Amino acid sequence: MSAPITQPPLPYPDNALDPVISANTLGFHYGKHHKAYVDNLNKLIAGTPLEGQPLEKIILEVAGKADKAPVFNNAAQVWNHTFYWNCLKKGGGGTPPAALGKLVERDFGGLDNLKKELATAATSQFGSGWAWLASDNGKLVVLKTANADLPMTKGLKALLTIDVWEHAYYLDYQNRRPDHVNAVIEKLLNWQFAADNLGV
Ligand code: MN
Repeated sequence: MSAPITQPPLPYPDNALDPVISANTLGFHYGKHHKAYVDNLNKLIAGTPLEGQPLEKIILEVAGKADKAPVFNNAAQVWNHTFYWNCLKKGGGGTPPAALGKLVERDFGGLDNLKKELATAATSQFGSGWAWLASDNGKLVVLKTANADLPMTKGLKALLTIDVWEHAYYLDYQNRRPDHVNAVIEKLLNWQFAADNLGV
């Protein structure tokens, strides 16, 4: 039996992001939604050649294959959520570390412009999906993806993400997605994590 895909522990307690993201939301999001993706993926790949493969290899192997859509959706959602928890931190927001800040200046003309682009991507994604800051061979870009899709299928390296599935905010904000998105950007984004992902 190969090792199953695992759900890493949250990098902070359930209530660490309150009041921007309540302990109630985080508890359901991590404990029910994220866990279900992990459990579903392990069931789907059990006894197949994908069992025991690294998560990123599974995602890239099945991406774009219609008959493997359930595997892709669950595998990508496992990756997205594990990544997302690390994109947030208590006392986040503020300004990026200096080296990343220079690149933000170069590619967006300043942090305010980047934050506006991120907020627009997050609020304009129709239905479920994600907003991302990513690296396109070193150039910083903002993009949005639908459902489970993620930058690696486009050859981009993810640096930060915001989950805009309703389960990410509905208990706290109901239909007010823009309020949630702006609070996450201003108060929770972990710019150091983005800099670490970029290697600057
Ligand atoms: Mn989610």
